Amino acid sequence: LTFDEFLRHWSVEKPNGPALLQEDRMQSYADLEEMTARIASYLHASGLKKGDRIVWIGKNSDLYFSLFYGAARAGIVMVPIGWRLAPAEWVYIVNDTQAKLLFIGAEFENIRTELTGQLPYVEKIIGENEARQHIAKTERTAFDASGPDDAVLQLYTSGTTGNPKGAVLSNRNLFALRKHSSELDLAYTRWDENEVVLVAMPCAHIGGTGLGIMAVASGLPALVLAEFTPDGVFDAIEKNGVTRLFVVPAALHIMLQQPRCKNVDFSKLKYILYGAAPMPLELLRQSITMFGAEFIQVYGMTETTGSIVMLPPEDHDPNGNLRMRSAGKPLPGVEIRIVGENGEDMSVGDVGEIWTRSSNNMIGYWNLAEATDKTMTEGGWIKTGDAGYLDEDGYLFIHDRVKDMIISGGENVYPAEVESAIFGHPDVLEVAVIGVPDEKWGEAVKAVCVPKPGASIDPDTVIAWARERIAGFKVPRSIDTIAALPRNASGKILRKDLRAPYWQGRDRQVN
Ligand code: ATP
Ligand code: MG
Repeated sequence: LTFDEFLRHWSVEKPNGPALLQEDRMQSYADLEEMTARIASYLHASGLKKGDRIVWIGKNSDLYFSLFYGAARAGIVMVPIGWRLAPAEWVYIVNDTQAKLLFIGAEFENIRTELTGQLPYVEKIIGENEARQHIAKTERTAFDASGPDDAVLQLYTSGTTGNPKGAVLSNRNLFALRKHSSELDLAYTRWDENEVVLVAMPCAHIGGTGLGIMAVASGLPALVLAEFTPDGVFDAIEKNGVTRLFVVPAALHIMLQQPRCKNVDFSKLKYILYGAAPMPLELLRQSITMFGAEFIQVYGMTETTGSIVMLPPEDHDPNGNLRMRSAGKPLPGVEIRIVGENGEDMSVGDVGEIWTRSSNNMIGYWNLAEATDKTMTEGGWIKTGDAGYLDEDGYLFIHDRVKDMIISGGENVYPAEVESAIFGHPDVLEVAVIGVPDEKWGEAVKAVCVPKPGASIDPDTVIAWARERIAGFKVPRSIDTIAALPRNASGKILRKDLRAPYWQGRDRQVN
């Protein structure tokens, strides 16, 4: 199915049902259908055709979603750029897309002058308010509807392991997001009629835009937060009756630290989806106790249009269920292989690189033929770059990025497991584990800790804490203290930046 079909369906079925909510604005499904038809007409009138790109730089906005859905109806590709990136990075991405139209959020009016002369392809920069006026004045005309395999969305990867790459996604990819989970037909994959969905993560990532797509696919209202703040989420739950949200583990951690958290009425919140980075076990336990909702883990990547593996609520038993360490089972229609160094399939329980194949897989990277060939095999598999294994019941356990694996004295150590073990230490607020050069061991495990406010880190107690919880060879040899961990806009720890000072002038061997 394409967006055209989704929108026309819900505008007939539920014309007055709310589709997009932000602050005091509300668009019904009938409004959204009309708005997106006008946007498609407006883009056509501006000389754009199928396959052309438009760019959005701004915080999350209902206008962003309308522009994306409108463009998607006409096969014009939306490229949202993370507003937290530096202007030089915006310039690089905008020029990479060769977009003629650049839309900017209301908070970003001042970048017009900042970017002048640096964007040779851009013919017009259109502010949020101006765009709303243009659209209001545009007459709905006929436009070329997009087909299932036309590109409609280009999302840049988070840039955790290298430079961000533009993953090009089609209507088919977006539809797969809904199709695979709805085939399970369980209470939590049904997205029932009375749900309200909260878009709290940045739309430049699949965790933000993907949730909006899921809401439209099911005819539900999506409440859009300009950016993640704990109070914004708490208010949305208490005042707007949000039933479902997606957050990264770092966001749950921030929410739990708020004194207000204990007093929020979470009774309407039914489901918390989380993923995009490893979830420390202790953080998950604390979150289950605090929020009381049903927890669903998702695993996936930009290149797979988000989730391909899911850990359902019933596997979130905080009383020591081993399954809670797993990312879950592949969704219907998703194939997973665990592949060894020589391309062989690994046996149950053995760690290798995770490969995946499904209609979630992107078309390819924009303008990066070599990177596309390295990531996508001829047989249609995506090599995720993540290490993991499958257990006898088909549950996927993710160890970490292949590139972050530490080889110490010939043993493989995965940082996420060590981090999860240290996370519950009473003085540790946050922790990241990296490999540092070591004469004897090749690489040695080092933990870099952020102390809790008012606390300080005593390396010996942290090491002793870890020793009680994980095998000796995984226990950090040394502990450093840092004020804050380097993170990217999606809240992921940038281990490459953390490693850099320890590796100055030396090459780190990665497979
Ligand atoms: P880049 O590809 O530019 O280095 P990135 O891989 O962080 O950045 P994304 O596509 O946003 O960019 O993130 C996908 C990655 O996030 C996965 O490959 C995996 O490493 C991690 N991830 C996603 N979900 C989970 C999960 N449930 N548990 C652990 N890690 C996860
Ligand atoms: Mg990646």
